[in-house]
Amino acid sequence: MKWVKQVVTIWKVRCLRCGHEWVPRGADEHTDSRAPPELESPPRICPKCKSAYFDVPPKSDNPDEAPAPAGKKPRRAQKGRSS
Ligand SMILES: [Zn+2]
Repeated sequence: MKWVKQVVTIWKVRCLRCGHEWVPRGADEHTDSRAPPELESPPRICPKCKSAYFDVPPKSDNPDEAPAPAGKKPRRAQKGRSS
């Protein structure tokens, strides 16, 4: 029996929102480890969290997309009617 070793590079996409990793359609055929595949139809959303911004790292200056820090809700201005 002649054994040969095959090292396969698998290109995956990582969601920068939830950290989910998946192999998009067409990427599983791309075994060139030097450059990532150029997909004909790149994924548009993360299959897990459904975020269309899986490719965009969360920014603190973009409160609409970035997970808001707990305890802060900058959506509405505070009104002076706490009691
Ligand atoms: Zn995700």
